[in-house]
Amino acid sequence: MKTVYFDHAATTHLYPEVSSRLSVTQNECFGNPSSSHSGGRKAKALIENARRSIAKELAVKAKEIVFTASGTEANNWVIKHAAAHLGIRHVITSKIEHKCVARAIEYVHGQGAEVTYLENNDQGVISFSALEIALAKTEHPTLVAIMHANNELGTLQPVKEIGELCQKYGALFFSDTVQTIGHYAFCPRDYHMDFCSASAHKFHGPKGVGFVYINENQKLQPWILGGGQEYDYRSGTENVHGIDAMALALKLSNAKENQHKKHALHLKEALWGGIQEVFPDAYQNGHPTACLYGVLNVSFPVHVPKEQLLFELDMAGIYVSGGSACSSGAAKDSHVLQAIGHDDARKAIRFSIAYSNTMDDVQHLVEALRSLKARYQRNSVSA
Ligand code: PLP
Repeated sequence: MKTVYFDHAATTHLYPEVSSRLSVTQNECFGNPSSSHSGGRKAKALIENARRSIAKELAVKAKEIVFTASGTEANNWVIKHAAAHLGIRHVITSKIEHKCVARAIEYVHGQGAEVTYLENNDQGVISFSALEIALAKTEHPTLVAIMHANNELGTLQPVKEIGELCQKYGALFFSDTVQTIGHYAFCPRDYHMDFCSASAHKFHGPKGVGFVYINENQKLQPWILGGGQEYDYRSGTENVHGIDAMALALKLSNAKENQHKKHALHLKEALWGGIQEVFPDAYQNGHPTACLYGVLNVSFPVHVPKEQLLFELDMAGIYVSGGSACSSGAAKDSHVLQAIGHDDARKAIRFSIAYSNTMDDVQHLVEALRSLKARYQRNSVSA
């Protein structure tokens, strides 16, 4: 059976170049980067070259990049330590953050920080005026935690304007950029971000490695205590091969951004056209233009059985997400869909596209939907 993967926002395959590179470095650079012999120094050089390369891609300083094991870890660190050690007593955030951000904020709320949840519109764009009001009236040192792109809807927030507001009111700005780094080349400084995060497996790098950007004017406390690796921020023997591979993946991604964007938008348009042809009552969620180019979130008509669609697509060899990856298969709408006032009777599916998808994949998916529709119609006649 042909399988079709349209779940690249959950995770994606390695670039072939990254895969080849990993097999070399794993075998040839296995030294401990803290060892003083040349095997250790070789591994250390890989890490520092990777840090420089990533810093160059982001147009920041190498010392502002700290490696982590995931985007989840980076996000937890910034939020928990900003509250504990940077004197933050108020967090302003959205209702549609990734669970790892939302739960870390709940944690700091439990530790005494005030939290303001901004309203968003039905496309998932946060209320800018509500942000300004909250910033103007806050009496405490404040952290604004707003993601760059929403992982379920694809909606992009106006982070430049958000950063400017944070500057105006003297608040720190942290953005979860896990869905944008490796898809859009940008400099966190241009958006006045004090902190942002990345995860290699979202841009054709390996799983289990990410990084956090910490503006040089901010100083977080050590996150993991031990031998003092990563400027004493995060002790533990580094994931040398993963870090090296992540740097290569980011470089390739940024170099191919326009090509990937053009390809994904072309397939996305064809996919949306095909879905509308089969299900004229379907609609798109998220912002129609200020949206990740590879993400298409679609709500299917109420007569499409909500509990079955994801499973039936899976049986047809088509891999997509309903809600978010963490809540795949969950019957209830995700917190993001609830926050945009989504009709709970409809099944929303996120299709996420990468450079490796083809028009053939799109046609395969549309044909699978067509046969499911025919089956639903037969079932409703015989019921
Ligand atoms: N933030 C966003 C927006 C994400 O989409 C994800 C992953 O789905 C994460 C954070 C967590 O990243 P990781 O899988 O590296 O822990």
